[in-house]
Amino acid sequence: MSVVAGVIAVQGDVSEHADAIKRAGDAKGESVEVREIRESGIVPDCDLLAMPGGESTTISRLVHSEGIADEIRGHVEAGKPLFATCAGLIVASSDAGDERVETLDLIDVTVERNAFGRQKDSFEAPLEVTGLADDEPFPAVFIRAPVIDDVGNAEVLASWDENPVAVRDGPVVGTSFHPELTPDGRVHELAFFENDGADVPTLE
Ligand code: GLN
Repeated sequence: MSVVAGVIAVQGDVSEHADAIKRAGDAKGESVEVREIRESGIVPDCDLLAMPGGESTTISRLVHSEGIADEIRGHVEAGKPLFATCAGLIVASSDAGDERVETLDLIDVTVERNAFGRQKDSFEAPLEVTGLADDEPFPAVFIRAPVIDDVGNAEVLASWDENPVAVRDGPVVGTSFHPELTPDGRVHELAFFENDGADVPTLE
């Protein structure tokens, strides 16, 4: 039986995520079938979900108008993994500080759009990420990335320049950067195949 992975495909870098998920599955000995999601009715069949980078205002508008938003929430409530990158992280956050983005409130963080690397729109940084398969730094590509300003009940997995850039909240992993744009599949492995949400600190 293969794992069914859905990539939210209303807008953004969809094929790169599909390829990265297949690579991560290969590394874990899992066969993965990828479905692109542009309408409601497909998410409930998916074991894993990725929400790509792109333009968060557009992704947010379309997941709501297509009836996909509630299905994504249901997926996470059922404890299934969601991996949200860059614009996807903005949409999955609890507060994007921009009324044009209706967030899904799935990762307890506040973000600020386009605030990372104001001077340089794009850059690459070697990151230490908690939970990767080995200790090699991860080559993180940042493109007009959001800053994570405030981390509520989420775990910080990586930081750059004193800002959190990778977080986990239960079955949801979010990154400000784009792991799907590098051949290194370790962050997808972490998000999808080693993510039981067990390490999430809880407030008591
Ligand atoms: N700047 C975009 C936004 O705010 C995100 C950029 C990206 O996903 N690479 O929506």
